[in-house]
Amino acid sequence: MTSIIENNIAGKVAIVTGASSGLGESTARHLAARGAKLVLAARRTDRLDKLVAEIRESGGEAIAVATDVSKRADLEKLAASAVEAFGRIDVLVNNAGVMPLSPIEKLKVDEWDRTIDVNIKGVLYGIAAVLPRMTAQGSGHIINIASVAGLKVFTPIGTVYSATKFAVRAISEGLRAETGHGIRVTIVSPGAVESELQLGSSDAESAAGVKAFYDANQIPADSVARAVVYAVEQPANVDINEIVLRPVTQDF
Ligand code: NDP
Repeated sequence: MTSIIENNIAGKVAIVTGASSGLGESTARHLAARGAKLVLAARRTDRLDKLVAEIRESGGEAIAVATDVSKRADLEKLAASAVEAFGRIDVLVNNAGVMPLSPIEKLKVDEWDRTIDVNIKGVLYGIAAVLPRMTAQGSGHIINIASVAGLKVFTPIGTVYSATKFAVRAISEGLRAETGHGIRVTIVSPGAVESELQLGSSDAESAAGVKAFYDANQIPADSVARAVVYAVEQPANVDINEIVLRPVTQDF
């Protein structure tokens, strides 16, 4: 009789972008604890190096790759580093993101550009970097971190952020429908989760509103990590398409 407890995570090679903080860091820890081989990506390599050391001390395998997800060449290098170190790519968690919030009338156009570059182009560049390898392997799993702001427009300060997360959901759903043949695609849409993300607004009024909202609602980053684990650990022919999770107290 086969066991009803399977671990479909042990041995998988998983790339996590934005692994230097928050959801990405927690997700990396959870996947590593279940035996995945981790490829950690972000710009702050000092933080990645610490996490690599921690994972190795616990008997796991991990490498760090300096990556700016707004640069396509960095994502190509990231995928190549994963293959060089571990021979394949089983999972990509497209998690890196920014959330500088402000009303549109304040015209923080540079912040709009950065949000689009990281939250949309970063996700697309990640897909472009791993898809050929996953197609050749006949298997792979791309997990894109969207947001509840990708389900409902987060007015009056989060319109551009929402636009990027709506885009992440559209890209994910289109990718899922286009690929098939062993490649799984999952959207994870969290509500307010404790991390550094809430500190990203240069507009003082918006930042104060965000702080009050998070102080009242936020849940720990491992809530998202466990959702990612759930998607990855399913049997190969089961694709968890979308997970939405919020603090119990959050209505939006
Ligand atoms: P954090 O600010 O704690 O972490 C963001 C991560 O993204 C960091 O590791 C950062 O690394 C990385 N990052 C930012 N810009 C770049 C870049 N140009 N290139 C590479 N990495 C980059 O936020 P969270 O952990 O909360 O955010 C993770 C994801 O979760 C984001 O996509 C966010 O939109 C989403 N999310 C978060 C929610 C929340 O309430 N926290 C709710 C819904 C969704 P570094 O600066 O070292 O490069």
